[in-house]
Amino acid sequence: MSDYYEILGVARDASPDQIKKAYRKLARELHPDVAGEESGDRFKDVARAYEVLSNPEKRQQYDLGVDPTAPGGGAGGPMGGGFGFQDIFETFFGGGQAQQGPIPRARRGQDALVRLDIDLAEATFGAKRELQVDTAVVCGTCGGSCCRPGTSPRTCEVCHGRGTVQRVARSFLGQVMTSAPCAACQGFGTVIPEPCAECSGEGRVRSRRTISINVPAGVDTGTRIKLTSQGEVGPAGGPAGDLYVEIRERNHDTFVRRGDDLHCTLQVPMTAAALGTVLELETLDGAQEIDLRPGTQPGQIVTLKNLGVGHLHGAGRGDLNVHIEVQVPTALDEEQEQLLRSLATLRGEERPDPRLSAAHPGVFSRLRDKLSGR
Ligand SMILES: [Zn+2]
Ligand SMILES: [Zn+2]
Repeated sequence: MSDYYEILGVARDASPDQIKKAYRKLARELHPDVAGEESGDRFKDVARAYEVLSNPEKRQQYDLGVDPTAPGGGAGGPMGGGFGFQDIFETFFGGGQAQQGPIPRARRGQDALVRLDIDLAEATFGAKRELQVDTAVVCGTCGGSCCRPGTSPRTCEVCHGRGTVQRVARSFLGQVMTSAPCAACQGFGTVIPEPCAECSGEGRVRSRRTISINVPAGVDTGTRIKLTSQGEVGPAGGPAGDLYVEIRERNHDTFVRRGDDLHCTLQVPMTAAALGTVLELETLDGAQEIDLRPGTQPGQIVTLKNLGVGHLHGAGRGDLNVHIEVQVPTALDEEQEQLLRSLATLRGEERPDPRLSAAHPGVFSRLRDKLSGR
């Protein structure tokens, strides 16, 4: 606790007149207009010391070891009226709110964010989904008026609906006018004599709502869909904020998505790759024929146009890229081995020349790894 007597430079038994004189002298010296901004802290201390020692009640408390300027201590409290150091300080430094007129009770509600998990087919074609949202809605009992049905808000008797109270104080500088939010109505200008029991006078209650949402084709993990005015309703029937739905796409067992293109791996036997064949592939669009040319190589990509994900902006779709993996037979029986040896002889491949080349990345890595650039 500061020594207020020392700050004012007076004795413990100084008379009210001596205290006043000491304060006036210091205040003139330390006034920010005279001494500059840096004197603000000392000026504040002096003002606080004077606030306490000039008031017989507060001075008595202070002499008993209680600081009446501490929060919760002293007479009156922050809104208790009377001339306090806060007022004069604000007058000098231009602090405090420049609030003009009452604050509207209704305010806009907050925006909300929810997550929605979708699968690849939904991202590809778009989907209609239902979503449960826990949010604030308008109170059904009072309709957002905050009042018990049959009652209505009353103009505040303290501020007469202005929301602020003005106080005129006399100081050594002359008359000082200060303005503060009205404590009786919290600055709203009106009071609610009988609050709605359902919402405790908030005008809104928490509730679980079901919202249906159109998920457009082409959304991806991280895409946010904005639903205007579907967020929290504001207090006292204030407008609702917006609701953002953030998409999270689940991995698919077969297809890997890169942009709007899809990729998959198709395993074909060595003989089919060599001879060529037509296969049926189960895609997101149902069974599709895939034509393997004779001599299809491992790692070759067969592109099926327009079977990928729909473009989010604009028409059209990405492609489906089928990566061919050639399976070399193992566990040959005697007859199969003989046939292959005969083939090798016919092709002059019994003792092939070693031909070195740069390793083909697709041979050693799994499709997912390859596509993610690892
Ligand atoms: Zn209500
Ligand atoms: Zn008021």
